[in-house]
Amino acid sequence: MTPADHTGDTSTGAKLLTAARDVIPGGVNSATRLVGAPYVLTEAAGAYVTDADGRRYLDYHAAFGAILLGHNAPEVDDAVRRAVGGIDLVGWGVTEPEIELARLVVETIPSAEQMISAMSGSEAVAQAVRLARAVTDRPLILKFQGGFHGWQDAVARNVISTPERAYGRDPLSRGILDDAIESTVIAEFNDLDSVRELYERYPERIAAVILEPIPHNVGALVPETEFLQGLRTITAEQGSLLIFDEVITGFRHALGGYQQICGIRPDLTTFGKAMGNGYPIAGLAGPRALMERFSSAGGDVLLAGTFNGNAVSSAAGIATITYLRDHPDFYERTHALGDRMRTGLGAIVSELGIPAVPAGFGGVFALYFTEGPIRGYRDLLRDNDEAYVAFHRRMTDRGFLMLPLALKRNHISAAHTEEDVDRTLEAAREVLRSVRD
Ligand code: PLP
Repeated sequence: MTPADHTGDTSTGAKLLTAARDVIPGGVNSATRLVGAPYVLTEAAGAYVTDADGRRYLDYHAAFGAILLGHNAPEVDDAVRRAVGGIDLVGWGVTEPEIELARLVVETIPSAEQMISAMSGSEAVAQAVRLARAVTDRPLILKFQGGFHGWQDAVARNVISTPERAYGRDPLSRGILDDAIESTVIAEFNDLDSVRELYERYPERIAAVILEPIPHNVGALVPETEFLQGLRTITAEQGSLLIFDEVITGFRHALGGYQQICGIRPDLTTFGKAMGNGYPIAGLAGPRALMERFSSAGGDVLLAGTFNGNAVSSAAGIATITYLRDHPDFYERTHALGDRMRTGLGAIVSELGIPAVPAGFGGVFALYFTEGPIRGYRDLLRDNDEAYVAFHRRMTDRGFLMLPLALKRNHISAAHTEEDVDRTLEAAREVLRSVRD
């Protein structure tokens, strides 16, 4: 990642960033936060964030999608405040909030009979992968090009998906053992033949197929129904597990996740991000027969984690899911706003004659700078990254914060309004004209 360039900038934000670089490698705690010459953010409320120099941004970045109800949503913050000062962290037995959170997940997620709590999506995925290997007694994990499932070794192959790096060894993979890299095999999204080919090449070796049911880490590839159904059939026939990584789609697109929308039941599901509206909470859910392989139920798969199920995270998870359960109109609203954004962007690029297509699902939207149709990752290799970078930079300058990475996505929360979307489209029209010219 390239360090943010604020050369000659005397703003408070630039000074703080320089101070950060002294004590934090690169100045940030997660490498992709560095992209797009970030400033230092000091306040967040509703749909807005404010930087150290008082600039306000309408926030579609939403902490990579961890914010779903808006920043500092009162329902969640109040629940967290109530949790602080109660029973904080125990290392013995269980607390009531942990039971309540698991109960809510089991009630809302179609394929869930039991759930374990984790602190991040990466941890939940690591547990899912280990469980799949234990259950099947096989080593390999099949993932899809462009899919991202966290920083853990087992899924860290091909996380950088720029055209020149596609399909090769990931340049950010130093420190990961060759065995771990080679234990992940890569197929093409929406292409069942590429999956079958890997099963032929590695008979009885693939423990699980893991996928983002909508790969939002490359914007939004829309899964073809036959593709998801095919994965369900093939994994069942081949004795592998099907893992839906719903760390982004979970709770965001429907209360029951994308599995509720597509009607396909994975064996295991991982959640995180929006589940706690900005507080660290994640989970792995599945049927009792699989979940009871964990050592907590007398099984042989190690389950441990000092902070698992802590009071603040559990309270945030309960409050977020309860809000979503009690406000089904949330989905109608955010889906309608997402449609408005995509339709508006589509009209602008066609009016301006720019080869670009809006993409997304529900409240998630992206803009690909290439001609459609976009079916799989290969189609995205044509994307004009430079055009996106210019678009992002100029939108940020105008106070609209989007994800700085081409091929990523943006998020509409409960705090965004129709007026926000219309203002964004107005700005996008001017910015896109300037990018074209
Ligand atoms: N799975 C998906 C689909 C993700 O997008 C991410 C993070 O972006 C993860 C897993 C990892 O989650 P975390 O960053 O909380 O470890």
